[in-house]
Amino acid sequence: MAKAEAPVFNRVALIGLGLIASSMAHAMRWKGLAGEITGHARSAETRATATEIGLVDRVFETAAEAVKGADLVVLCVPVGAMGAIAAEIAPHLAAGAIITDVGSVKQAVIAEVAPHLPDTVLFIPGHPLAGTEHSGPRSGFATLFVNRWWILCPVEGTPPEATAKLRALCEGMGANVDEMDAPHHDVVLAVTSHTPHLIAYTMVGVADHVRRVSQSEIIKYSASGFRDFTRIAASDPVMWRDVFLTNKEATLDILGRFTEELFVLQRAIRMGDGAYLQEYFTRTRAIRRSIIEAGQDTAAPNFGRGVSEPDA
Ligand code: NAP
Repeated sequence: MAKAEAPVFNRVALIGLGLIASSMAHAMRWKGLAGEITGHARSAETRATATEIGLVDRVFETAAEAVKGADLVVLCVPVGAMGAIAAEIAPHLAAGAIITDVGSVKQAVIAEVAPHLPDTVLFIPGHPLAGTEHSGPRSGFATLFVNRWWILCPVEGTPPEATAKLRALCEGMGANVDEMDAPHHDVVLAVTSHTPHLIAYTMVGVADHVRRVSQSEIIKYSASGFRDFTRIAASDPVMWRDVFLTNKEATLDILGRFTEELFVLQRAIRMGDGAYLQEYFTRTRAIRRSIIEAGQDTAAPNFGRGVSEPDA
């Protein structure tokens, strides 16, 4: 991946300086995609860390100051915090600026953010399907988005050249860009990310109950499937609280289907229906193969963990 010939945006403001924002800062610098990068985080501690490690060119105490003069503003805070940030920055946005976000849910973000924004700016919601279980300004790395999907959900009437500019930035960071509408995004992500996270949280919760009986055995022998569940279940609690509170309908729908499937498998085990179980697991194995063939994971025996995990 070569460096960009010229920056795609003159000044990019990152609001929230956690995993996604810090990865964007590293990736944009690596590829020369932004003339200048400004940033804001809520806590003095995060702002001090960002300054200390030189994450962005200038760190501001308020989001309002950080967005001034920016031709791209990226909201990188938990989904539940997006509305308040939008209200705060709205009067300070430069005319013609593009506003995007990286939230894991799209309909709720649009409902919370869009009403605050002036007509002089363009809001193009987005979501990089890349992440790890780590958080904070030190957790980012430049290659997080390489060969990962970045979904853009432009609303009706968005000028195609604005979407193309944002697409160029995402592609510049190594991502593959797809466009879809927000309701479709939320259903797809409920299947591929949100419900699996809930299941992982549940399984680790179950093990925690059992631990009271078997003491440390669960930690000691956690070399198999359980360990992968614990990685997912270590994801940021606030971020995931907000995902479930805001993508309620789609998650509950998929969870209902999951419960039905689970009962079918439970019955097959009870009845000793080996043929059914084998046929089921053969189908699921094929799905894993197609994910590897699509370049979204590797077949390396690393318990399913790569440097950059498709996530969220
Ligand atoms: P993170 O590492 O936890 O960082 C979150 C940032 O938002 C921090 O700088 C935090 O500031 C700030 N923040 C939190 N609550 C805030 C509030 N109420 N008001 C203002 N600022 C607030 O989070 P992340 O993983 O980068 O996630 C950011 C967004 O990306 C979320 O919307 C998430 O859904 C989405 N996303 C995450 C992943 C993933 O795997 N992690 C993947 C794709 C998309 P302080 O540090 O000062 O508290």
